[in-house]
Amino acid sequence: MAEKSYKYVILGGGVAAGYGAREFVEQGLKPGELAIISKEAVAPYERPALSKAYLAPESPARLPGFHTCVGGGGDRLTPDWYTEKGIDLILNTEIVEASVANKTLKAATGVVYKYEKLIIATGATFIKLTDFGTPGADANGIYHLREVQDAAALYAAIKATPNGSAVCVGGGYIGLELAAALRLNNLNVTMVYPEPFCMPRLFVSEIAAYYEGYYKEKGIQIIKGTVATGFESNDEGHVKTVKLKDGRELKADIVIVGVGARPNTGLFKDQLTLEKGGFKVDGFFKTSAPDVYAVGDVATFPLKLYNELRRVEHVDHARKSAIQAVKAIKAAEEGKTTEEYVYLPFFYSRAFSLSWQFYGDNVGNAVVWGTDTASNTNGKFGAYWVKDGKVFGAFLEGGSAEENKALAEAARNQVPVSTIKEIAHL
Ligand code: FAD
Ligand code: NDP
Repeated sequence: MAEKSYKYVILGGGVAAGYGAREFVEQGLKPGELAIISKEAVAPYERPALSKAYLAPESPARLPGFHTCVGGGGDRLTPDWYTEKGIDLILNTEIVEASVANKTLKAATGVVYKYEKLIIATGATFIKLTDFGTPGADANGIYHLREVQDAAALYAAIKATPNGSAVCVGGGYIGLELAAALRLNNLNVTMVYPEPFCMPRLFVSEIAAYYEGYYKEKGIQIIKGTVATGFESNDEGHVKTVKLKDGRELKADIVIVGVGARPNTGLFKDQLTLEKGGFKVDGFFKTSAPDVYAVGDVATFPLKLYNELRRVEHVDHARKSAIQAVKAIKAAEEGKTTEEYVYLPFFYSRAFSLSWQFYGDNVGNAVVWGTDTASNTNGKFGAYWVKDGKVFGAFLEGGSAEENKALAEAARNQVPVSTIKEIAHL
């Protein structure tokens, strides 16, 4: 059986892998020391592009245009970069077995990869309605989005269905971003979600009402408080109808399912300590096993600002956690230590000409400002989450780079509520 050995292996070839590889090079890496093993066919790329620029009706973004690390404001790492740096980019290779005790990863191809130090960066996989046994949920024309081949298939379907009907199941990130992308491509779009308003884990009703109103003005139909309970297909097995729990039936040529994601931890089940669905790590992203680190979507890390363990499924953390893990590995090799990870949660989304950013924690009372005047102020409005008289979370739609920076500082420093007025009128 073929075997290959590396000093460092990054398992997974997504966002964290790209930023981790760059950090290894910045810290000093010899040719042949690092391998990235990915089941994807392409070098690491900025995953957020898939639900935005990739689906644009005109001049859509395509690889190599959005390889990492452009999203973080750095240089683009094309496959040539990995070759130049002596990094083995092992693509189209799914790891199907892992042994922490033997420090090995076995690929579906049969090749065994040995490592001295491992960074697990396997990300997450979309949840499917077939997981819940929803009848007809395996029909053609029902799409999920995680990897570039998913986006390519969806793009082809959009182009093959001019003026068709699309239904987006789920009112989270995927639902909102893809409903916009489909509408921009001139499809008749309906969103369906069970909650009373969209993005309920982050938004409060006033924020959601603004976006729902905007989407309706763009011609998107929104059906709330019910779920898809089944799908009907035509004779070719292609979806044609979405059946809702409230009895309604919606015509659909394309269905998008965005009902959440699950971290890919299965390979290390019973080998590493799990917490909140991810691998429990410390402030250096070390797991419960020596020489094994976990970063990005799969890591449950100490969020020092709020004194709790948390898992974050967003790109900013994927980038920063990978950088932190590599710094920690390199420092330990030199007998030094690095600072522990101090992270301020940061989420954002873009759809149509909307663009919002959120920093901090959405705890306490939400104080929303500007939704009534947003239509006369270039769509600008925001919210603060206030607890114990301090700002814990800050949200801004339509902010400039400078304003967003001020927002981050307000949440990071947990400024007293008395200063909110000044911040609101940045
Ligand atoms: P990923 O980037 O998912 O990479 C995981 C990698 O591991 C993949 O290459 C996968 O194929 C590989 N892998 C998994 N298992 C195996 C295996 N057994 N063998 C080999 N390879 C394996 N976040 C934001 O903050 N803003 C956004 O606008 C935003 N937009 C998004 C849009 C979309 C469509 C999606 C899906 C996510 C978006 N996110 C966004 C979330 C963000 O992309 C993720 O949080 C981030 O990609 C996590 O990085 P990661 O490296 O942990 O995992
Ligand atoms: P989200 O968790 O954001 O949203 C899923 C939504 O679907 C939730 O509101 C969930 O409700 C709801 N839901 C659950 N079950 C059903 C059901 N049966 N029918 C209808 N709705 C249901 O996940 P997404 O799928 O939108 O995103 C997948 C991953 O991609 C996430 O990790 C996300 O962070 C990431 N992503 C991030 C983006 C960004 O940061 N801008 C953009 C795109 C993707 P409940 O909360 O009650 O479970």
